[in-house]
Amino acid sequence: MPSIIALTIFISFMLILLFYYLKKPPITSLFPENGVNILLNHVSFYRNLSDNLKISFQKKVEDFLKYVNIEGVKIQVTDLDRLLVAASAVIPIFYFDHWKYNNLSTVLLYPHSFNQEEFLSDEADRDVSGMVGNGPMQRIMILSLPQLREGFNINAGQSNVGIHEFVHLLDKEDGDVDGLPQALLDKKNNPEYMRLVDETIHEIKNNRSDIDAYAITNRAEFFAVTSSFFFNAPDEFKRNHEALYILYKKIYRWP
Ligand SMILES: [Zn+2]
Repeated sequence: MPSIIALTIFISFMLILLFYYLKKPPITSLFPENGVNILLNHVSFYRNLSDNLKISFQKKVEDFLKYVNIEGVKIQVTDLDRLLVAASAVIPIFYFDHWKYNNLSTVLLYPHSFNQEEFLSDEADRDVSGMVGNGPMQRIMILSLPQLREGFNINAGQSNVGIHEFVHLLDKEDGDVDGLPQALLDKKNNPEYMRLVDETIHEIKNNRSDIDAYAITNRAEFFAVTSSFFFNAPDEFKRNHEALYILYKKIYRWP
């Protein structure tokens, strides 16, 4: 008899649990349902991570989407586009603990490249496929959608405008976009980094480098161009720029 009572209590308990479980509103997540497949198909950095690290990447993507708005200007923004923006943000800081882009609230996606006068900024890049806002455009990043997608194309090589602009934001964290991100470069690495910058710029000027010549514009562009090369094509970067590769592994805290 006592066992029947126990069983009845147990079943009632399970029914109550089931009732509450079914009544509970679905957990809304900013990470799209097909997000894993999108990342696997489009983001090689993600594809090359172990299963555990893939989960951590997804979590960081979701965290980013919680505090940054991604809006299309005269275009519809798809899950793919939102994930490519978030992946561009997460890749440079993936191995950092709890990084937040404090200097960003909105990413605007444009259907084409744009001209810098439109945005009152002097930090537009040459092809003006991306920029980090200044003055009234503070905390806003602008990206050309076709070029954002192009950067994640399997044949993109060293350029990735999304990663490039987020590296500028990391650089800006200490107040100056000067190619010397104080949060990343500890003082003892500074002289080695400056020596490598000068050496590499010399090679580019003498046509002895595979690095995009835009890198010699100034130190900030050098840092963004070479970092984007490092993330987008790490094997090629390692082969051709080993000393810089080793230093960037330290800066970006790769295991
Ligand atoms: Zn740039």
